[in-house]
Amino acid sequence: MAKDYYKILGVDKNASQDEIKKAFRKMARKYQPDIAGKAGEEKFKEINEAFQVLGDKQKRAQYDQTGGEGFRFDDSSGGFGSVNFEDLFRASGFGDIFDMFSGGGRTRKKGPKQGSDVRYDLDITLEQAFSGLTTKIEIPIHVACKACKGTGSKDGILKTCDACGGTGEVRKVRRTPFGQTVFITTCDKCKGLGKIISEKCPKCNGTGRIKENKKIEIKIPRGVDEDSYLRVAGQGEAGYNGGPPGDLYVVIHIKPHKIFERRDTDLYCKITINLSKAIFGGDIEVPTIDGTAKLKLPKGTQSHTVFRLRGQGMPDIHSHKRGDELVKIIVEIPKNLPAKQEAVLKEIFGDNLKTTKGFFDKMKEFVS
Ligand SMILES: [Zn+2]
Ligand SMILES: [Zn+2]
Repeated sequence: MAKDYYKILGVDKNASQDEIKKAFRKMARKYQPDIAGKAGEEKFKEINEAFQVLGDKQKRAQYDQTGGEGFRFDDSSGGFGSVNFEDLFRASGFGDIFDMFSGGGRTRKKGPKQGSDVRYDLDITLEQAFSGLTTKIEIPIHVACKACKGTGSKDGILKTCDACGGTGEVRKVRRTPFGQTVFITTCDKCKGLGKIISEKCPKCNGTGRIKENKKIEIKIPRGVDEDSYLRVAGQGEAGYNGGPPGDLYVVIHIKPHKIFERRDTDLYCKITINLSKAIFGGDIEVPTIDGTAKLKLPKGTQSHTVFRLRGQGMPDIHSHKRGDELVKIIVEIPKNLPAKQEAVLKEIFGDNLKTTKGFFDKMKEFVS
């Protein structure tokens, strides 16, 4: 059985990298052996394994693709027993978790940092939600500077930091009552990057990022609903110092429709018919989201009766199975009958017309 890493971290399969990080942080805090003791160790190991995979975009994609089956977790840290927690977290690219452990002693390296996730709200019509669509959106966003390939250095050339020899860290010796202690600290000169810019890129002023209106083509699947969202991996803000970009989240909003109201995959509408149709019955044509359908009315159809047209609703986003259309029939009562017709009705209903007139009036109020 494949391990369900999403379950282990208690997150949804669609969780953003940020949510995964947050879940991991919370779990790790709870189960770290310093607090939870020996019993927490197994759990902690499991949480870490899950995060090593889901916290890494590439590994996560690989894991998602196989559904976990046949996915092998590669414990490159060389076994749990031999590593300390700081290294473990460093390996997960998750520097700031140090804060919750030892309380410092070591400043974290400012390595490559992933760009932020970006949200984009997209309004579409119900018809577009029905059929799905491919569209281009334009978002003002930071992208990697092309002139310097995101390095921030003119012509993209970075020099190895001479202060730390490119490691980003320097060793310092401190005398303590217990003897000499060697400790490692972030290199001041390169801020831990290991590389320095000799001349700033004039295009991006050394930041490696440029704001532009980025055009992105997105594909909205059939059956999306209000607040459905689409994760477009790697289309968020550009990363820092060579880090990967964030993700783009497209949040769907569906414009109100002039005929249909949607509830999940079912569509609701009201159709008005005249009195004779209600009395005699027969076929009527009703609108559907992708055309029209025939509805057979029985004789004596009452106002507010609801008919169900099976399979004429919206498609389910996963199974594509369509819901139903529910048609509420409204019988229109004529307001001013020509004298001739009134006479005919009087003849048919006789004195009853007088007693039912109040009923008709009430019905009018109810309908309109
Ligand atoms: Zn640049
Ligand atoms: Zn340095």
